[in-house]
Amino acid sequence: MERHSECKWSGDCPFFSDPRGFSPDMGKRLMKRYCRNDYHACARYIGRTALGTGNIPHDMLPGDFERLESLLGSLLATAR
Ligand code: SF4
Repeated sequence: MERHSECKWSGDCPFFSDPRGFSPDMGKRLMKRYCRNDYHACARYIGRTALGTGNIPHDMLPGDFERLESLLGSLLATAR
């Protein structure tokens, strides 16, 4: 049986509380896919885990892995 669970950060995630800039259908689809099921695969979730809440842009999408890569690259560059 497939197990579903909601992201632990849904209570204070800007995307979850107000998915601005999306059609209602798109927002619902992304929430169903990421926030209410596969949240470990969400770019926001991964970024927040690695960088902390304040380093994730409010308008970043759950599937925006290019932006996640850029954020993580910036972190690595400053760590050198
Ligand atoms: S967008 Fe990502 S971090 Fe935010 S509630 Fe959904 S799964 Fe969690």
